[in-house]
Order: sequence, then structure tokens, then C-alpha cells
Amino acid sequence: MLTDTFDRRFSYLRLSITEVCNFRCDYCLPEGTDCGPEARAHDLSLDEIRRLVTAFARLGMRKIRITGGEPSLRKDLTDIIALCKQTPGIETVALTTNGYRMTKDVDDWYAAGLDAVNVSIDSLDHAKFKMITGHNKLQKILEGLDRAAELGLPSIKVNSVLMKHYNDDAMDDFLDFVRERPITLRMIELMQTGDNPEFFDRHHLSGDVVIDRLRREGWQERLRGRDSGPAREFWHPDYAGGIGMIMPYSKDFCATCNRLRVSSQGQLFLCLFVDEHQSLRHLLQSDDPEPVMAFLQEAIKGKDYSHHLHEQNAGATKHLAMIGG
Ligand code: SAM
Ligand code: SF4
Repeated sequence: MLTDTFDRRFSYLRLSITEVCNFRCDYCLPEGTDCGPEARAHDLSLDEIRRLVTAFARLGMRKIRITGGEPSLRKDLTDIIALCKQTPGIETVALTTNGYRMTKDVDDWYAAGLDAVNVSIDSLDHAKFKMITGHNKLQKILEGLDRAAELGLPSIKVNSVLMKHYNDDAMDDFLDFVRERPITLRMIELMQTGDNPEFFDRHHLSGDVVIDRLRREGWQERLRGRDSGPAREFWHPDYAGGIGMIMPYSKDFCATCNRLRVSSQGQLFLCLFVDEHQSLRHLLQSDDPEPVMAFLQEAIKGKDYSHHLHEQNAGATKHLAMIGG
């Protein structure tokens, strides 16, 4: 098992499979990215991903989240899901996506073994959704979510970044959304990255505002276990779905960290917000997992206790599309 010097155990790998994205979310990639083959030429290959996942699984990784950029821009996403699922030791394969290909592809992803999907929807208002992402795709994305539910995908979540002036008045819509649907809505506090300091200053909103309202309306917080990760989960007897709060600026957010990250070019990130990352791609050129495992066991010793976001230090992370949020 990978354990750091603060006795935290790492069972959860977030693997970015491409940096490029077709959306232009205001807080992430407001100018969008080039989505052409050139921009994707350096992404990890299927073989490199297989070797990476094998080594992590041998060290006790049980859950893999495939993310990006937009992971569904890769034509071999279904193969990547299947190879993760077939790796001995991996129990859960999850995907974070903007959802634009869900109606077309979610059947294949499910058949390949996908256990969980998180779909980003920052507003349930069509015009606002278009304003935030640059695309008028909310209806299609909601249809994709319905299809995932019809298939019986075990875990379906919606990620919403909380933003003043964008969706701080939308709590009624969000709560209505989970009233009948067995979906967890994840409200994520906006994080400052290298590229978005002004946007952050104008729009950051503390999740405490949401928690106060949830408590007033009878929502209750679930107890957290040692390996449950940083989300605070709330439930209510009158709602089929739940609310999860991700509050990276809150005290002790990092205490329960259970995840490591690898970028689409094979760089290990010990935290979302670090100054330095280490490439392990050269170790992915042979089928022997031992050198990768030795590298990871050494690298984990350098993991800091906490990020330094409170000091306005996002490390070298320009935007979260670099490593998947
Ligand atoms: N493109 C996919 C998507 O949007 O779901 C996957 C990658 S995206 C970087 C992963 C998650 O990070 C999304 O839920 C997105 O809303 C969130 N995210 C991106 N930038 C963020 C920021 N500055 N603060 C908080 N969350 C952010
Ligand atoms: Fe793309 Fe996801 Fe970033 Fe939006 S949040 S720009 S969908 S990577």
C-alpha cells in the first residue's frame, strides 16, 4: 500500500488522459484549447496506461478516475475503461466528463465496465450553461444522464462549481434536481489556479453558505470514514439524491487525502497544487512494473501535508484541465 509520512493511504488514482477540451468553461479554459491531433500527439498511449495502472494496482490502488481535459475526446476511451476494469486489484472505474458524448457513448462505457460517472453541470439554466461553457448542450447532457440511469450505472454524480453571480441563486433548481433523481450533486468551491486569479476574486463563494441552508432545511451530514476522501456528504429523507460539498479552503481538507494524480503525459502530481511534478513516462516503456512501483514508493515520501491555496499559491497548476481537477 502507498502510505505517506502522515500515515495517509492512497487507494485512488486520478488519471488524466488528455489535456485538450472542446468546452471553454470561464473558470478553467476560457479561451478553449486546440483539439486537433497535433495537440493530442503526446498523450499517454494505451500500452503506457496499461503499465501505469498495473503498477498502481500492485501498490493497492483500488479506484481509478479517468479525467482530463475532456477524456471523451479520445477515441479509445472505451478501451481505456475496459483495460482499467480488467486490471487485477482495480475495483472501481470512474469517469469525469463534460458529458457531451454521453448520449452516444455511455452504453459502450457501461459495457466496458464503467462503475461511476461524474458529469459537470454548473447551471441547470440553458442560457447560463451556454454562457459558462460556450456550448448550448445542456439538453443533450441531461439526456445522457438519463440514459446512464436507465442503464443502471452504479454511481452518477453531477459536479457544479459554486460561483458568485453565476449559480449562487440556483440552489432551488439544484435541490429540485436531486429530489426525485438518485444522483449526488457535488458542489465544488471554485479554486484559484495560475490562470484565473481575477475570476477567482470576483466569483469565489464559500461552501458554508450552502451548508447553512442545507442544515436549515433538514439535511444531515454523513459520518466520514478514514478512507472516505475529502467530500462532505449530506442526505435528506425527502430526497432521492444527495449533496456533496468539496471545500478545499476549509480546515483539515487535506487530512483525509487518499488520491494521487498522473497527467496525460505521464507526470506524477502528489497534489493538485504543487510546484513540481515528476515524470514517470520513461518507466512505462517496458512491461516490468517493479521500477514504476519503486519510483512511486520513493516519491510518496515527498508528499506535503497540505496544499498552499490559502497563501494564494496554486503551485504550477495553470488550470485544472492540466490534471483533471
Ligand atoms: N472536462 C471534464 C469535466 O469538466 O468534467 C473533466 C475535467 S474538469 C478539469 C474536472 C472538474 O474540475 C470539473 O467538474 C470542473 O468543473 C472542475 N474544475 C475545473 N476548474 C476548476 C476550478 N478552478 N475550481 C474548481 N473546480 C474546477
Ligand atoms: Fe473543459 Fe472540463 Fe475545463 Fe470545462 S471544466 S473547460 S469541460 S476541462
